[in-house]
Amino acid sequence: MTYLKIEKVSKQYDEDNMALEGFSLEVPKGNVISMVGESGSGKSSLLRIIAGLEIQSAGLVYLGDQKILNPNEKLVPGYDEIQLIHQEYKLYPNSTVEENIARPLLMYDKAYQKERVEELLDLLTLTAHRHKKPRQLSGGQQQKVAIARALSIEPEVLLLDEPFSSLDAIQKRELIEELKQIFESLQVTVIFVTHDLDDALLLTEQLFIIHKGKLIQQGNAEDVFRHPANLYVAKLFGYLNVLPGKENNFVRPSDIHFLKSGGIKAKVQKRQYLIHYNLLTVQLEGSGEIWRVEDKEREFQEGDTLFLDFDEDKVLYLEK
Ligand code: ADP
Ligand code: MG
Repeated sequence: MTYLKIEKVSKQYDEDNMALEGFSLEVPKGNVISMVGESGSGKSSLLRIIAGLEIQSAGLVYLGDQKILNPNEKLVPGYDEIQLIHQEYKLYPNSTVEENIARPLLMYDKAYQKERVEELLDLLTLTAHRHKKPRQLSGGQQQKVAIARALSIEPEVLLLDEPFSSLDAIQKRELIEELKQIFESLQVTVIFVTHDLDDALLLTEQLFIIHKGKLIQQGNAEDVFRHPANLYVAKLFGYLNVLPGKENNFVRPSDIHFLKSGGIKAKVQKRQYLIHYNLLTVQLEGSGEIWRVEDKEREFQEGDTLFLDFDEDKVLYLEK
């Protein structure tokens, strides 16, 4: 069942700048999706329009049967049902964790407030920190408080606009994995926006790729990886080697293997020690093309001669 529906939304801030162009998207209730795109691709504009906080130039947003009204059409912009969280999401610095979480609940009766705050402290494993002020928390814990606060009034939709960008890699990974379980248990509809494909994949397999204000591909992670719609999408998954003399033909470093002899002869120019393999920068004999190759056994040194090969079905044909 389609639940959140974005219909041909466009946004033009000024004459020569289309931030969004005919953007359509449908998200079923309870789904968690990631929207990936480079900086400036229109992600924040889209989320603000969905939340009713930005005036679109064209198009409509629906939550169920309800049309989302923009700030021109609604006296108090925004909706309780749709909560937007971004990186600079501000907590109240002089309030404790539990006071911050309770803040949106002040209109509700005391017993419910108390019960809901307890639930959220427990859900986000913040109980031990309930009496602390935001400055006494790590970045990851602060973001959890922000998310708990957004969840306090039981929103239907949670929009996450690169909320983890200021966290270090380990904190971020742990937080995303924790949130994944929480979102599943709550059945809340989530759109997670990021420029970082790794982060997106930690949260969900459902990918939407946005580029220059347009939705260019959607699908599960494996489909998008195997059949990228264009060069931009393929590059989100990493470096691509160009086949000499064959424009628009590429092979991924991870799809190249080594032969004892034969294949494509190449010389190692540079070796970088990475977590899972040595990344080799090699120059192909003849064409002079520079490729990247993964040396998982960490066998080769700079100056070594290699014989490279790949399966024909691993070749990607990609247009710009
Ligand atoms: P992202 O979140 O993917 O980085 P944004 O939605 O913030 O993308 O921006 C998309 C485009 O719209 C960019 O070219 C940006 O410069 C422009 N833009 C965003 N907000 C405004 C604004 N308030 N006024 C003018 N241009 C804007
Ligand atoms: Mg943004």
